[in-house]
Amino acid sequence: MKRKLADPPSPQNDPRFQRERAEFSLVVGCERCVYFAHRDGTCAHRYPNAAHKLSAFEPGAEPAGSFCKEFELA
Ligand code: SF4
Repeated sequence: MKRKLADPPSPQNDPRFQRERAEFSLVVGCERCVYFAHRDGTCAHRYPNAAHKLSAFEPGAEPAGSFCKEFELA
C-alpha cells in the first residue's frame, strides 16, 4: 500500500516560521519580488498571486500563504 503524504503545513500557521521570520527578517511575499507590478498588485508573469502576497503570511489569513517558486528578490 502506498503511503499518502500529508499536505505540508502552511507557513502562516507554523510558529517556528513566524518566530524566525521576525528574528531573521525573512523576506517573503510578492511585494518584495522583482516581478511584482506595484501599480495594480499583479504578477508580471500573470500568476494568480493572492497566496503569495505578504498579507497571506499573516496568521489566519485567507488564502493561506505559500511560497512562490519564481520569487526573485527585487
Ligand atoms: S513571481 Fe511569484 S512572488 Fe513574484 S510577483 Fe509573481 S507570484 Fe509574486
